Amino acid sequence: MTQKAAQAETEPKYQCCFCGSTIERGARLTLEIPHSDGSSQGLASHIACFEERLHPSVPFMRPEAEATPTV
Ligand SMILES: [Zn+2]
Repeated sequence: MTQKAAQAETEPKYQCCFCGSTIERGARLTLEIPHSDGSSQGLASHIACFEERLHPSVPFMRPEAEATPTV
């Protein structure tokens, strides 16, 4: 914490941990990885990128697809 953030953006930019692209607002989820010292690391990803990597047997309901029948 020796210097202020160089980017004076109104919104923080999140980088997808899967594809590396900037995540637009609303399409983001956060993965929290607990560390042994009690802290945690937050990783952001696109909802779509996360879904792509899920095993097919995992039921996943996309926020924007709630009204879509699953079968
Ligand atoms: Zn992504």
